[in-house]
Amino acid sequence: MTDLVSKARRIAVLTGAGISTASGIPDFRGPQGLWTKNPAAQAMFDIDEYVASTEVRAEAWKFRRAAAAWDAEPNAGHRALVDLERQGRLTGLITQNVDGLHQKAGSVLVHELHGTVWYVDCLTCADRVPMAEVLPRLEAGDPDPACELCGGILKSATISFGQSLDQAVIDAATRATQEADLFLAIGTSLQVYPAAGLCDLALRAGIPLVILNAEPTPYDDEATAVITTPIEETLPGLVA
Ligand SMILES: [Zn+2]
Repeated sequence: MTDLVSKARRIAVLTGAGISTASGIPDFRGPQGLWTKNPAAQAMFDIDEYVASTEVRAEAWKFRRAAAAWDAEPNAGHRALVDLERQGRLTGLITQNVDGLHQKAGSVLVHELHGTVWYVDCLTCADRVPMAEVLPRLEAGDPDPACELCGGILKSATISFGQSLDQAVIDAATRATQEADLFLAIGTSLQVYPAAGLCDLALRAGIPLVILNAEPTPYDDEATAVITTPIEETLPGLVA
């Protein structure tokens, strides 16, 4: 199985929350996840509720201000994927994470399916500014900062429920998968589309699927190998 990965020359990687938990980023759906412990928090991630309510937006901004991502550091799992890219064996690093830790580690070929917390978009004029420009406005006492160009509602550049994914990112992720001779799914429960659909795409194309995840996934039966040991301990040896 280790052989399968070491022999692969064009690897498409999909990552989910599991790769970042060792960096102190809580997941949403796991046993300790935000939504598991507080289902009401889901309103912050629903575009209709966000647009309709200043209270929901103020809650969301409080949550963003306190986000673990600002101070988190990449772990050995993130760094192993940088090595894979520098070896020239990565067709693309597709991630469901919004924490930016792959880029912080040094990965370049990153396709963020669910966007990023490091930028803020105006929902009216689509102007995009760095989160670092908006957080000080919260510190200064504005609970729901508006767009400085048009007065529109600002939101982190992440995909909320009810929002469409970026088609260009989906296309890039699809290409990275089609070009691969191995599909490696890491730290993802594979229960959300289009991430899970990329596994279908790989399997239909006859590309072997290797899953590295602590919990069972719906694709375990079709995978060539399933590894459940901790990602940050396993991945460096797997891609070395
Ligand atoms: Zn605007």
